[in-house]
Amino acid sequence: IQFSDLGLSQPVMQALDMQGYKTPTPIQAQAIPPVLEGRDLLGIAQTGTGKTAAFMLPSIDNLRKADNQIPFKSCRMLVLAPTRELAGQIAQSAKDYGALAGLKVHSIVGGTSVNKDRNKLHRGCDILVATPGRLLDLIDQKAFNLDGLEILVLDEADQMLDLGFIHALRRIRELAPAERQTLFFSATMPKQIKELVSGYCKNPAQVSV
Ligand code: AMP
Repeated sequence: IQFSDLGLSQPVMQALDMQGYKTPTPIQAQAIPPVLEGRDLLGIAQTGTGKTAAFMLPSIDNLRKADNQIPFKSCRMLVLAPTRELAGQIAQSAKDYGALAGLKVHSIVGGTSVNKDRNKLHRGCDILVATPGRLLDLIDQKAFNLDGLEILVLDEADQMLDLGFIHALRRIRELAPAERQTLFFSATMPKQIKELVSGYCKNPAQVSV
């Protein structure tokens, strides 16, 4: 399977070329077509498998296709990640892969100035990468909302549970618009994760690598 078989747009294909990616990894080959179709996704995958591109590339194209305005104090795509380090890496990947798509990417994580985050979020963005705790702080301060959300990604959900984010994840689910696409990734599938998946996803395509 080649990237050109997967239905990605020219700007995304060019970005892959610039990254030097030649062929899709197994999770990319399996996940990209259903995500492009608009389906929810449950991906059971470890880090290092290429899962970031597996959710980011088709999402960039879905955002381009919908072509909605950047929402005020909100974002079109939200990626939740367990740690600052991972959130930073995902935001960098979004910038790399979306370089030619003209999307505005921000990240907010704990341990940095909340005031800076408030300013950053004021005008909204296309893609926001965040840790759950800091995101909820900003929502509670009315500095941010989820009203503009089209795509929601949970990355390393099992790690987020281990770090005590279960209540944050339940609240974020309640605040997110019902009509959205959800892409859910976890390396393991304990009972608590299965429950979370059934609350978050509708008839997800399942990919396991
Ligand atoms: P991830 O599992 O998303 O953390 O990705 C692991 C590493 O693989 C990252 O350094 C990516 O830049 C790289 N990568 C992802 N997809 C591909 C690909 N199709 N070809 C080559 N490298 C890739």
